[in-house]
Amino acid sequence: MSSEYVVLSFFKSKRIHYHYEKPTIIFPCPHCGLEAKMNAMIGLWKCEGCLQQGTLVTLMEMMDADGKEQRLLQHVKIYNPKEEYQLIKRSFERLIEVHGDRVEKLYKRVEKLIDYHQEEKQRRN
Ligand SMILES: [Zn+2]
Repeated sequence: MSSEYVVLSFFKSKRIHYHYEKPTIIFPCPHCGLEAKMNAMIGLWKCEGCLQQGTLVTLMEMMDADGKEQRLLQHVKIYNPKEEYQLIKRSFERLIEVHGDRVEKLYKRVEKLIDYHQEEKQRRN
């Protein structure tokens, strides 16, 4: 079983809000609630906000401790661009139903802009 699988299963089973961009999992830091990053392949994480760091085992222990850390892990939502995109898309679809053409044209322009930035990002990687 890969470390990646174990790590993702942990986040799912504990209902911790995360965003996965292989090999990085972005999740709320248990100490400050800002974005922490974990390498899913090796299970090590670090928070760029408060500089705390640890392993998957550290997180598991915090979940068992049932304290402030667990609350932060389970109740803080981090920005998930994929989820956000789906929500925006649904809002546009509802607006197009009501307002038609003009909103649809705006939606297509926004999509084009997103595509442009995605291609730009791929070029940089
Ligand atoms: Zn932190």
